[in-house]
Amino acid sequence: MKEEPMVPAPTDDPDDVSAEPEDLLESLVKRELHLLGEDPEREGLVRTPHRVAGALRFLTQGYRQTVEDVMGSAIFEEAHDSMVLVKDIEIYSLCEHHMLPFFGKAHVAYIPDGRIVGLSKLPRIVDVFARRLQVQERLTEQIAQAIEDVLKPQGVGVVIEAVHLCMMMRGVEKQNSRTITSAVRGLFRRDNRTREEFLRLAASDTSL
Ligand SMILES: [Zn+2]
Repeated sequence: MKEEPMVPAPTDDPDDVSAEPEDLLESLVKRELHLLGEDPEREGLVRTPHRVAGALRFLTQGYRQTVEDVMGSAIFEEAHDSMVLVKDIEIYSLCEHHMLPFFGKAHVAYIPDGRIVGLSKLPRIVDVFARRLQVQERLTEQIAQAIEDVLKPQGVGVVIEAVHLCMMMRGVEKQNSRTITSAVRGLFRRDNRTREEFLRLAASDTSL
């Protein structure tokens, strides 16, 4: 049986294993350009493998972060026990099926149980999971679960509305369809009124 290499040869010399991982990624992008019928040596493309590798590393930096890292010591004892909602958190992620962007907004809410978190930390938790290869459904669940785990609140609700370039630019070419996903925990799941209040607030256009 003919053995297919798992990945294209990383450098011009397939036996060269001395390349650093960064260089390897660049070499793969260069190879990709070649396989697409381009000339990777032409002026406009010479630095492209370097830039693409850097962009990919940035867009997947969530793999190298943990929720604990970004939370630091930003959890505070507080008796507040009504809903806290941060709306319109920008999301930029990559779909794991095509490695094309999907982007939109997340609305993240929780009801504290003796502990609150610094508000700026919620968007950072979102980014830990958005900056990976994702499907929107799992991204939504992971954000909800992370807040559940670190805060042990009475409830958590997350709604994400996003558009997917893999739908817009290829295949079905649906330019205007938005995908909405939600994940609820605790009171948001058990109590209809809480869930409805959250979904109503998340859906409302309250731009300042
Ligand atoms: Zn896709």
